[in-house]
Amino acid sequence: MQLNGSKNLANRTCWVFDMDGTLTLGIHDFEAIRATLELPVGMPILESLRQLPTEIAAAKYEQLREIELELARQATAQPGAHELLALLRTQGKQVGILTRNGKDIAHETLVACGLMDFFDPTLVLSRDCHLPKPEPDGILALLNSWEAAPTAAVMVGDYKFDLMAGQRAGTATVYIDTAGEFIWSDYADYGVRSLEAVVNWLEANNSLGL
Ligand SMILES: [Mg+2]
Repeated sequence: MQLNGSKNLANRTCWVFDMDGTLTLGIHDFEAIRATLELPVGMPILESLRQLPTEIAAAKYEQLREIELELARQATAQPGAHELLALLRTQGKQVGILTRNGKDIAHETLVACGLMDFFDPTLVLSRDCHLPKPEPDGILALLNSWEAAPTAAVMVGDYKFDLMAGQRAGTATVYIDTAGEFIWSDYADYGVRSLEAVVNWLEANNSLGL
Protein backbone atom coordinates (compact mmCIF):
# COMPACT_ATOMS: atom_id res chain seq x y z
CA MET A 1 0.00 0.00 0.00
CA GLN A 2 2.80 2.43 0.77
CA LEU A 3 4.18 4.31 -2.23
CA ASN A 4 6.34 7.21 -1.07
CA GLY A 5 7.61 8.38 2.28
CA SER A 6 6.42 7.13 5.62
CA LYS A 7 3.63 9.44 6.71
CA ASN A 8 1.54 8.28 9.64
CA LEU A 9 -2.07 7.53 8.64
CA ALA A 10 -3.65 5.78 11.60
CA ASN A 11 -3.14 8.72 13.95
CA ARG A 12 -4.43 11.32 11.51
CA THR A 13 -7.73 12.72 12.74
CA CYS A 14 -9.07 14.58 9.68
CA TRP A 15 -10.05 12.72 6.52
CA VAL A 16 -10.98 14.59 3.34
CA PHE A 17 -12.46 12.60 0.48
CA ASP A 18 -12.99 13.24 -3.19
CA MET A 19 -16.52 12.09 -4.06
CA ASP A 20 -16.97 10.79 -7.63
CA GLY A 21 -14.93 7.65 -8.28
CA THR A 22 -13.59 7.63 -4.72
CA LEU A 23 -16.62 7.28 -2.42
CA THR A 24 -18.80 6.35 -5.40
CA LEU A 25 -18.20 3.96 -8.26
CA GLY A 26 -16.77 5.90 -11.19
CA ILE A 27 -19.41 6.39 -13.87
CA HIS A 28 -18.35 9.78 -15.23
CA ASP A 29 -17.09 9.48 -18.79
CA PHE A 30 -15.36 12.85 -18.90
CA GLU A 31 -14.36 12.46 -22.57
CA ALA A 32 -18.04 11.89 -23.50
CA ILE A 33 -19.05 14.93 -21.40
CA ARG A 34 -16.41 17.03 -23.16
CA ALA A 35 -17.73 15.83 -26.54
CA THR A 36 -21.34 16.72 -25.60
CA LEU A 37 -20.26 20.17 -24.41
CA GLU A 38 -17.95 20.58 -27.43
CA LEU A 39 -14.96 21.25 -25.21
CA PRO A 40 -11.30 20.46 -26.07
CA VAL A 41 -10.32 16.79 -25.82
CA GLY A 42 -8.35 15.86 -22.71
CA MET A 43 -8.62 19.28 -21.01
CA PRO A 44 -10.20 19.70 -17.54
CA ILE A 45 -13.86 20.69 -17.99
CA LEU A 46 -14.16 23.49 -15.41
CA GLU A 47 -10.96 25.15 -16.63
CA SER A 48 -12.10 24.89 -20.28
CA LEU A 49 -15.44 26.52 -19.42
CA ARG A 50 -13.61 29.36 -17.71
CA GLN A 51 -11.83 30.18 -20.99
CA LEU A 52 -15.11 30.74 -22.89
CA PRO A 53 -17.11 33.98 -23.33
CA THR A 54 -19.54 34.38 -20.41
CA GLU A 55 -22.79 33.64 -22.29
CA ILE A 56 -21.49 30.52 -24.02
CA ALA A 57 -19.94 29.31 -20.76
CA ALA A 58 -23.24 29.84 -18.87
CA ALA A 59 -25.19 27.72 -21.38
CA LYS A 60 -22.61 24.93 -21.30
CA TYR A 61 -22.41 25.11 -17.52
CA GLU A 62 -26.18 24.52 -17.33
CA GLN A 63 -25.81 21.58 -19.73
CA LEU A 64 -23.02 20.18 -17.53
CA ARG A 65 -25.23 20.47 -14.43
CA GLU A 66 -27.98 18.48 -16.15
CA ILE A 67 -25.54 15.72 -17.15
CA GLU A 68 -24.09 15.60 -13.62
CA LEU A 69 -27.52 15.58 -11.97
CA GLU A 70 -28.53 12.59 -14.09
CA LEU A 71 -25.29 10.80 -13.09
CA ALA A 72 -25.87 11.73 -9.43
CA ARG A 73 -29.21 9.93 -9.41
CA GLN A 74 -27.48 6.74 -10.63
CA ALA A 75 -24.66 6.93 -8.08
CA THR A 76 -23.72 3.87 -6.04
CA ALA A 77 -21.22 3.67 -3.21
CA GLN A 78 -17.71 2.38 -3.77
CA PRO A 79 -17.33 -1.00 -2.00
CA GLY A 80 -15.91 -0.32 1.45
CA ALA A 81 -17.10 3.32 1.57
CA HIS A 82 -19.70 2.64 4.29
CA GLU A 83 -17.23 0.57 6.30
CA LEU A 84 -14.43 3.12 6.08
CA LEU A 85 -16.63 6.10 6.96
CA ALA A 86 -18.26 4.17 9.81
CA LEU A 87 -14.83 3.17 11.17
CA LEU A 88 -13.51 6.73 11.02
CA ARG A 89 -16.64 8.12 12.69
CA THR A 90 -16.47 5.42 15.38
CA GLN A 91 -12.88 6.44 16.04
CA GLY A 92 -14.07 10.04 16.50
CA LYS A 93 -12.33 11.28 13.36
CA GLN A 94 -13.50 14.21 11.26
CA VAL A 95 -14.69 13.48 7.72
CA GLY A 96 -15.36 15.92 4.91
CA ILE A 97 -15.67 16.01 1.14
CA LEU A 98 -14.01 18.20 -1.46
CA THR A 99 -15.47 17.72 -4.93
CA ARG A 100 -15.16 19.46 -8.27
CA ASN A 101 -18.87 18.72 -8.68
CA GLY A 102 -21.60 21.25 -7.71
CA LYS A 103 -22.95 21.46 -4.16
CA ASP A 104 -26.53 20.35 -4.82
CA ILE A 105 -25.29 17.61 -7.16
CA ALA A 106 -22.91 16.38 -4.46
CA HIS A 107 -25.79 16.15 -1.98
CA GLU A 108 -27.95 14.33 -4.54
CA THR A 109 -25.09 11.87 -5.16
CA LEU A 110 -24.45 11.19 -1.46
CA VAL A 111 -28.15 10.64 -0.76
CA ALA A 112 -28.47 8.30 -3.79
CA CYS A 113 -25.64 6.09 -2.52
CA GLY A 114 -26.62 6.23 1.15
CA LEU A 115 -23.52 8.09 2.38
CA MET A 116 -25.01 11.48 3.30
CA ASP A 117 -25.59 10.51 6.95
CA PHE A 118 -21.84 10.27 7.53
CA PHE A 119 -21.31 13.95 6.70
CA ASP A 120 -22.17 17.31 8.17
CA PRO A 121 -23.64 19.04 5.05
CA THR A 122 -21.52 22.13 5.75
CA LEU A 123 -18.40 19.96 5.37
CA VAL A 124 -19.26 18.85 1.83
CA LEU A 125 -17.33 21.45 -0.17
CA SER A 126 -17.77 21.93 -3.90
CA ARG A 127 -16.77 24.11 -6.82
CA ASP A 128 -19.61 26.43 -5.77
CA CYS A 129 -17.78 27.58 -2.66
CA HIS A 130 -14.03 27.12 -3.31
CA LEU A 131 -11.52 27.10 -6.13
CA PRO A 132 -11.55 23.59 -7.59
CA LYS A 133 -8.79 21.06 -6.95
CA PRO A 134 -5.83 20.96 -7.66
CA GLU A 135 -6.05 24.20 -5.68
CA PRO A 136 -5.79 23.33 -1.96
CA ASP A 137 -8.29 25.98 -0.80
CA GLY A 138 -11.13 23.56 0.01
CA ILE A 139 -8.87 21.30 2.07
CA LEU A 140 -7.51 24.29 3.96
CA ALA A 141 -11.07 25.50 4.62
CA LEU A 142 -12.02 22.11 6.10
CA LEU A 143 -8.88 22.11 8.25
CA ASN A 144 -9.79 25.60 9.41
CA SER A 145 -13.27 24.38 10.46
CA TRP A 146 -11.66 21.56 12.40
CA GLU A 147 -8.90 23.78 13.80
CA ALA A 148 -6.45 21.15 12.62
CA ALA A 149 -3.05 21.23 10.96
CA PRO A 150 -2.36 19.63 7.55
CA THR A 151 -0.12 17.12 9.31
CA ALA A 152 -3.26 15.78 11.04
CA ALA A 153 -5.06 15.25 7.72
CA VAL A 154 -5.40 12.76 4.89
CA MET A 155 -6.71 13.46 1.39
CA VAL A 156 -8.19 10.45 -0.42
CA GLY A 157 -8.86 10.53 -4.15
CA ASP A 158 -8.81 8.73 -7.48
CA TYR A 159 -7.45 11.52 -9.70
CA LYS A 160 -4.24 13.50 -9.83
CA PHE A 161 -6.01 16.76 -8.92
CA ASP A 162 -7.14 15.22 -5.59
CA LEU A 163 -3.59 14.15 -4.77
CA MET A 164 -2.05 17.43 -5.96
CA ALA A 165 -4.50 19.39 -3.78
CA GLY A 166 -3.53 17.23 -0.81
CA GLN A 167 0.17 17.72 -1.46
CA ARG A 168 -0.24 21.47 -1.84
CA ALA A 169 -2.21 21.63 1.42
CA GLY A 170 0.45 19.52 3.16
CA THR A 171 -1.71 16.48 4.00
CA ALA A 172 -0.91 12.80 3.53
CA THR A 173 -2.40 11.51 0.27
CA VAL A 174 -4.11 8.19 -0.43
CA TYR A 175 -4.61 7.25 -4.07
CA ILE A 176 -7.40 4.80 -4.87
CA ASP A 177 -7.07 3.11 -8.25
CA THR A 178 -9.28 0.05 -8.66
CA ALA A 179 -7.33 -0.87 -11.83
CA GLY A 180 -4.07 -0.88 -9.84
CA GLU A 181 -2.19 1.15 -12.46
CA PHE A 182 -1.28 4.07 -10.16
CA ILE A 183 -0.19 6.37 -12.98
CA TRP A 184 -0.20 9.41 -10.65
CA SER A 185 1.73 7.70 -7.86
CA ASP A 186 4.25 10.59 -7.75
CA TYR A 187 1.57 12.60 -5.96
CA ALA A 188 0.59 9.90 -3.47
CA ASP A 189 1.95 8.64 -0.15
CA TYR A 190 -0.22 5.53 -0.27
CA GLY A 191 -1.90 3.59 -3.05
CA VAL A 192 -4.88 1.24 -2.65
CA ARG A 193 -7.04 -0.73 -5.06
CA SER A 194 -10.08 -0.53 -2.77
CA LEU A 195 -11.42 1.34 0.23
CA GLU A 196 -11.64 -2.03 2.00
CA ALA A 197 -7.83 -2.06 1.87
CA VAL A 198 -7.79 1.20 3.84
CA VAL A 199 -10.20 -0.28 6.42
CA ASN A 200 -8.04 -3.39 6.78
CA TRP A 201 -4.88 -1.35 6.99
CA LEU A 202 -6.30 1.02 9.62
CA GLU A 203 -7.58 -1.87 11.71
CA ALA A 204 -4.23 -3.64 11.50
CA ASN A 205 -2.10 -0.57 12.17
CA ASN A 206 -4.21 1.39 14.61
CA SER A 207 -2.72 -0.27 17.67
CA LEU A 208 0.80 0.13 16.27
CA GLY A 209 0.34 3.86 15.67
CA LEU A 210 1.73 3.61 12.11
MG1 LIG B 1 -12.84 11.53 -8.51
